[in-house]
Amino acid sequence: MKDYLSKDAWKIVEDGFHPEHNKVTESIFSLGNGMMGHRGTFEETYTGETLQGNYIAGVYYPDKTIVGWWKNGYPEYFAKVLNSANWIGVDIKIGDVQLDLNQAKVLSFRRCLNMKEGILSRNVLLSINGYEFKIHSERFCSYDQKETGWLKYNIKSRNYTGPIEIKSFVDFDVRNQDSNYDEDFWDKHCQHIDRDWGHVFCKTKKTDFKVCVGMMNKLSLNGELIDNKDTEQIDECVSHVYRLDIKEKDIISLEKCAAVMSNYHHGIVKLTDECQKLLDEAYTDGYDTCRLNHIAKWDEKWQESDIVIDGDVSAQQGIRFNIFHLNQTYTGDDARLNIGPKGFTGEKYGGSTYWDTEAYCLPFYLSTADQKVARNLLIYRYKHLSKAIENAEKLGFNKGAALYPMVTINGEECHNEWEITFEEIHRNGAIAYAIYDYIRYTADSEYLLQYGLEVLIGIARFWAQRVNWSDHRGKYVILGVTGPNEYENNVNNNWYTNYLAVWCLRYTIQCIKDLQDIESKVLDQLFQKCTFDYDVEISKWTHIIENMYYPYDEGRQVYLQQDGYLDKELIPVSELEESDQPINQNWSWDKILRSCYIKQADTLQGLYFFEDDFSLEEHKRHFHFYEPLTVHESSLSPCVHSILASRINDRDKAYEMYLRTSRLDLDDYNNDTEDGLHITSMAGTWMTITKGFAGMRIKKGELHFTPHCPALWNEFSFTIKYKNQDLKITIQKSNVNLNNLGPHNVKVFVYGNKLIVPGRQSINEGY
Ligand code: BGC
Repeated sequence: MKDYLSKDAWKIVEDGFHPEHNKVTESIFSLGNGMMGHRGTFEETYTGETLQGNYIAGVYYPDKTIVGWWKNGYPEYFAKVLNSANWIGVDIKIGDVQLDLNQAKVLSFRRCLNMKEGILSRNVLLSINGYEFKIHSERFCSYDQKETGWLKYNIKSRNYTGPIEIKSFVDFDVRNQDSNYDEDFWDKHCQHIDRDWGHVFCKTKKTDFKVCVGMMNKLSLNGELIDNKDTEQIDECVSHVYRLDIKEKDIISLEKCAAVMSNYHHGIVKLTDECQKLLDEAYTDGYDTCRLNHIAKWDEKWQESDIVIDGDVSAQQGIRFNIFHLNQTYTGDDARLNIGPKGFTGEKYGGSTYWDTEAYCLPFYLSTADQKVARNLLIYRYKHLSKAIENAEKLGFNKGAALYPMVTINGEECHNEWEITFEEIHRNGAIAYAIYDYIRYTADSEYLLQYGLEVLIGIARFWAQRVNWSDHRGKYVILGVTGPNEYENNVNNNWYTNYLAVWCLRYTIQCIKDLQDIESKVLDQLFQKCTFDYDVEISKWTHIIENMYYPYDEGRQVYLQQDGYLDKELIPVSELEESDQPINQNWSWDKILRSCYIKQADTLQGLYFFEDDFSLEEHKRHFHFYEPLTVHESSLSPCVHSILASRINDRDKAYEMYLRTSRLDLDDYNNDTEDGLHITSMAGTWMTITKGFAGMRIKKGELHFTPHCPALWNEFSFTIKYKNQDLKITIQKSNVNLNNLGPHNVKVFVYGNKLIVPGRQSINEGY
């Protein structure tokens, strides 16, 4: 745990320089706008611990995989989000000394991320050879014009008189920290610099993505524009260089605008011309106007998605931090993009898509953004359906069975550990579950007919082939899988996987039947397209639904995580030595696999998804059995536990787990924030409040709440989009206020009581 950032409702502040945590801070202070993003690195040269990272959505490189023993079915490559041009760079030379915070004496320091405005700023007072300088910088990745970013950099001499050099540059000579063969992923295409503007244009090796990054600079001394600048270029780096003689109290102010363009978003156009055009436009508008437009867009976003907590600033900062980064990572403008577990904040997980999107992220975007945003997340998988079918074929399945990849950027699997690639097949179920989640919230049957059902059929066919009949049990079984708990592999009959498989089959049949009544013609066309043999396939699926085996312990009356789970020595986590934890950093993999410890919600993930299938008593029994054995070493774990704890009314546990998820990165709880933030679990944090404390559910097409207000809070409120209008919910200690911001009546249930909230009115209900 780290506790060096101050608590504030809207800001994250590092007061005083903490070089020892610099990489953690860089992750936390990352900026992004769904199109591009970068880590919170310094503008100037920094020779201390740092991880440069500038990323562009959708631009990746297929890094050759490294494996010990090659296994048939492994993918050839691991897709990697690429470190791209550094456009924030400004190097300063005082006389002939390079300004470097690792060398200079830092007299005072404050770095601040203003989440309300999406602006990162820094104030530093430093001394170089006894000469003192004050720096103020601020920058943003525009939320308004998403291919531009701006930087304002001021430096004031306090007592120095002499020469100074300011070099503002775009540098494409970058590498990934994580690259299997130490390769350089970019080839230079062209570059150019003149007094007005400069750019570097590079192409990725193999994937041939083209990226052009340009800049324009404006510098003034004590408010007077300085026209006198030099241009410089070396390989893959172009610079505007200002050489001035200054005296004490002088203030130099640089405004830099950058444009980042790729053929991913522009197709075959002259990227260089487009880049210059965009820069010209932004530059004409100027820093202040672009800044205001950017802030205005953030303001709209916050209106839609903010959660306000009264009475606990630490919790307030935590949830806003999560919401801020979710909105920086994915905006839903482009159905080819998705949500990497680290977003734009680091290289880990390669920027690829995991089941995290469907199981954890979808509900956030569904409730806080236009419906098309969540729809695009689902269409992403529809676009990958043919690849998922190919992926299943590679593993020996046929007849349109689809196995979605565990890790992907373009629809192809790019993870190559057999126990995950081949065995962690529960991801297929999460994709089907997201369709269900979306449909129950939106009732968008047009999506279901046009896209969703085809995906469901592919997934159902996979399960129908992946199960096998066991003569011994007289039941269907699913062998050789890894559940969400990756701390055990190649298990038989993981309860969660078996349950999910059956649910997928049942839900697909139900969707077919529902659509048959209203759209039989279109459905027939779909069946032809998929060569769907209605009678044969539905009767096979029904047989599986009726005859699946689920491991169960009669004594404890709990479903077992998998066959043989009770053979393990069941010692609760509370009895582990502190020095053993986290076990993934302290134990051998062998010891972990044989232990009873569960990495993240597994059986409990099933109870969370399918809560209406289980009684409250069953929830309690399973929670009390599994939670003490869970080490929560995946960031995806505490949120599900918090929601379930709210459900069983264990409010202390719900709050404990809430804090763990909401401040996971701010407090560097797992000691790994330096690699980047846990973006996908941030959506889980949002759910702990809305689904957990507020108990929000959609049941049979109706909106329900079973709220409680955590003891430390006076009240909390949030806004959701429901049935195309906004509803603000405020939860106090024993009262709920429902404020209908739209024109139409909304029906809501609070603890089962039906209420009609008239359009543009609010009502109070005690609980
Ligand atoms: C978790 C997976 C998750 C992945 C990416 C792993 O640690 O076990 O469930 O998909 O991280 O977040």
